[in-house]
Amino acid sequence: MPEESIPVIKQIDVVVVGGGPAGIAASMAAARNGAKTLLIEQRGYLGGMGTAALVPAFCPFTDKEKPVVRGIGLELLEQMKQNCSLEYQKMYQHSLDWVPIDSEVLKRVYDDAVLESGVELLYHSFVGQIVMDSTDHQVDAIVVLNKSGRSAIQARYVIDATGDADICALVGVPIQKGGPSGELQPGTMCYLVANVNRKSFLEYLRESGDSGQISLAVEKAQEAGDLPQGRKKVSGFAWLSDNLVGVNFGHVFGIDGTKAEDLTRGAVEGRRVVKQQIEFLRSYVPGFEYAHLVATGEQIGIRETRRIQGDYILTQEDYLSCRSFEDDIARNAYFIDVHLTDSSDQMNIYRLPPGQSHGVPYRCLLPKGVDNVWVAGRSASVERIVQGSLRVMPNCFAMGQAAGTAAALASKFSVNSRNVRIKELQKLLIQQGAWLGEDC
Ligand SMILES: Cc1cc2nc3c(=O)[nH]c(=O)nc-3n(C[C@H](O)[C@H](O)[C@H](O)COP(=O)(O)OP(=O)(O)OC[C@H]3O[C@@H](n4cnc5c(N)ncnc54)[C@H](O)[C@@H]3O)c2cc1C
Repeated sequence: MPEESIPVIKQIDVVVVGGGPAGIAASMAAARNGAKTLLIEQRGYLGGMGTAALVPAFCPFTDKEKPVVRGIGLELLEQMKQNCSLEYQKMYQHSLDWVPIDSEVLKRVYDDAVLESGVELLYHSFVGQIVMDSTDHQVDAIVVLNKSGRSAIQARYVIDATGDADICALVGVPIQKGGPSGELQPGTMCYLVANVNRKSFLEYLRESGDSGQISLAVEKAQEAGDLPQGRKKVSGFAWLSDNLVGVNFGHVFGIDGTKAEDLTRGAVEGRRVVKQQIEFLRSYVPGFEYAHLVATGEQIGIRETRRIQGDYILTQEDYLSCRSFEDDIARNAYFIDVHLTDSSDQMNIYRLPPGQSHGVPYRCLLPKGVDNVWVAGRSASVERIVQGSLRVMPNCFAMGQAAGTAAALASKFSVNSRNVRIKELQKLLIQQGAWLGEDC
């Protein structure tokens, strides 16, 4: 290739790469706290898995007694509800757990929320290169590729919210992926189905004794060969109205979300699986007789890829003992939910008692070997089993808000990520609605 000079199109305090829940909250927090902030997203909308992959519901924001994830995450949840139909509002007005996602409403809510916070947005742009000054362990610029060509953005601070730790992988941060032999949780192609009848469905559950996850119907279809062996229930139905439902069901195994070839196979196989599931729903599940598939995810949903090695790796023991840390920036109460890696495997599920949660230390967001980058979201520095819990959207909002607030503080005082004053960060987070536990 001929040598190419890359224009520097922008100089900015904080650049956030990736517009999923972590990146949305990170960019809003950074901008609200005074940093000039740019959010870069490869798609033409925000939301990550919740919109692009049609993941149908938000996991609980509460520990079954009180909200644990508050701040920007809760604010966005309430905004989505307020913008949904009246029928939807009646059903979910007071819910904070398993609230269904209306993805088209959510995309607009996210657009407005980041722009109103003062964030600059750049869609349709993929970050595939960085410029690094290895002498001072800093990323100097990121390189985006889009319809305008290749260009560089100089940033004082970078938040990697790609979900896959793409920026950290480019930096050379030590990384782990999946289990000991590289095994990964499966992907799922989620989808939206119209022309269904919730009342008939509920009547079927009452009369048949089947669970809300229709395990009886699934087992019957598996025995008859109308569904492949594997998980014996639907992960979730999220009813947006009495005749529209989001579905999270089944798995596609062996998909590494950092490989384009695997994502391609996931898309093709995922759509095949959905076709089979729609046929199953129509013939086995009352209320779904006339089900019409409206949309599948733009990509297969990815639960797990890279985890960075940060200044601290949150352990299973920390999770189970509900440990708190001096540098907590969030709390988590969601159960550990590691999906099977192949159809013969079992799911790993551990739950904390109601009212209990553990802390998430700031150090889990600090990748080793680089001083002006934070990671927020599902690739934070935790053991694999803890990732099975921390990865869900409410937690990604909370980690994002912490990373964005820290980046704004670093920018204000011109210090690196490791020299942000923790007490000041915690104070700001609490002032801005986050919850860090009873003692804070
Ligand atoms: C099938 C499935 C079911 C799930 N069920 C639930 C559930 O019920 N409730 C729940 O709360 N959570 C659920 N989760 C988990 C949750 O959706 C994700 O873990 C969460 O969205 C992760 O948030 P994130 O911000 O870290 O990353 P993501 O949501 O993955 O967002 C990352 C964003 O970065 C962008 N991006 C990535 N790389 C680049 C790049 N190099 N350049 C530019 N942009 C880039 C992507 O396009 C994306 O928008 C589920 C996940 C899956 C896959």
